[in-house]
Amino acid sequence: MMAAVAAAGTGARLLLLEKKNSPGRKMTIAGGGRCNFTNIAGPEAMIDNVPGNGKFLYSALHRYTGEDCREFFNSLGIVSRVEGGGRVFPADCLGADMVSALVRHLHSLGVEIKCGKEVEALILEGNCCLGVAGVDGGKYYGRVVVATGGLSYPGTGSTGKGYQLAATAGHHVTELFPSGVALVCSDDWVGSGRVQGLALSNITVSLNDGERRLASAGGDLLFTHFGVSGPAVLNISRAAAKIFHHKTDQNYTLTILIDMFPDKNIDMLLNELEKAAGIETRKTVKSIMRFFIPDRMVPLVFSIAGIDGEMKASGAGKVVWRRLADTMKQLPLTLAGTCPIREAVVTAGGIDTKEINSRTMESKLVRGLYFAGEVIDVDGYTGGFNMQIAFSTGYLAGLSAALAK
Ligand SMILES: Cc1cc2nc3c(=O)[nH]c(=O)nc-3n(C[C@H](O)[C@H](O)[C@H](O)COP(=O)(O)OP(=O)(O)OC[C@H]3O[C@@H](n4cnc5c(N)ncnc54)[C@H](O)[C@@H]3O)c2cc1C
Repeated sequence: MMAAVAAAGTGARLLLLEKKNSPGRKMTIAGGGRCNFTNIAGPEAMIDNVPGNGKFLYSALHRYTGEDCREFFNSLGIVSRVEGGGRVFPADCLGADMVSALVRHLHSLGVEIKCGKEVEALILEGNCCLGVAGVDGGKYYGRVVVATGGLSYPGTGSTGKGYQLAATAGHHVTELFPSGVALVCSDDWVGSGRVQGLALSNITVSLNDGERRLASAGGDLLFTHFGVSGPAVLNISRAAAKIFHHKTDQNYTLTILIDMFPDKNIDMLLNELEKAAGIETRKTVKSIMRFFIPDRMVPLVFSIAGIDGEMKASGAGKVVWRRLADTMKQLPLTLAGTCPIREAVVTAGGIDTKEINSRTMESKLVRGLYFAGEVIDVDGYTGGFNMQIAFSTGYLAGLSAALAK
């Protein structure tokens, strides 16, 4: 859609082929329906938030910035609001309303939108792409922008067809794995459902393979019936998925350490525990801990620390408080895997960026063929970066296709 907006601005004739009954379905569910459509981060900071080939996006993110995107939607009557982490949402409407506004705008620009039209193949001649063929046998000629998305949430229409189309033009598709996905834990205390639904705010999580730290992220964490989710977890999930993708050993595990007090070092936390115990001398250690962490976490912390919570606070020595503080700073979870790619926020991997001109989004192998969005081997953290990637690459691809000689 953004490619069509950019191309239509040059006076080009546009046809948008969408296989579902309506375009932009993923936008309607993004951000829980509220659509975190960009981030206030500038282009360089955006690149830092794109672990999957961020540098490839240098031109696209400079040519069409998050600010441009906000201004564009503002011109369509969608006022935006900034929330935590610089995430930008529409202030008083939903993603579905943004899609409606986009579609109205496309109509006003004279873009023809054909829904229920699935593209089956590229029409190729030598090293040129002349158009596309639909599953219904229809043939459409002109320059082509492939913006078919990844493999996540296939119900929205992104079923990976773009990878096949690109492959017929000689493109390589790098390994595909989930990013922004919930993680599966094998600890009994998670599986038992004792903490299901419990959210921990402003924690940090780190992902470790033995002694090696692979990733870490801050934010909120949510315990589910099978493991953990929430923004902090989604942002370390890419590193976990990459490791699991290469392991044939079904029993391979990684470790997550949750720091429930990232703003305090161990001595500060220890001091606070001892101070509370000094005031509430008649209380049990368990009761003191309730001042610090949610009730449902208390028995778990005791069981992991190997400490009897019923002992009197006055009788607990430094060793006890230290062990509890250590446990709260490094609560271990055993990670057995990730949820599947169809449940991921974004698909990591895709059409090899080495084969795409980053200044135009045109294929380096086939003239007249352009790529945009998640189908390319680019993926960002949660926070509005993936949608901005789609908008920026879409804008650049549409403009380049329309202006190509
Ligand atoms: C649950 C969820 C929440 C998300 N929340 C956010 C968020 O808040 N912020 C954010 O930045 N990102 C979010 N994302 C990621 C973001 O939505 C995607 O990265 C982005 O939509 C990718 O845009 P795209 O245009 O490349 O692909 P898509 O949005 O997947 O669009 C691809 C389109 O191509 C169509 N299509 C596919 N194959 C064919 C074919 N053969 N012929 C014709 N049409 C075809 C599909 O039907 C679809 O309409 C979320 C993703 C999910 C799954």
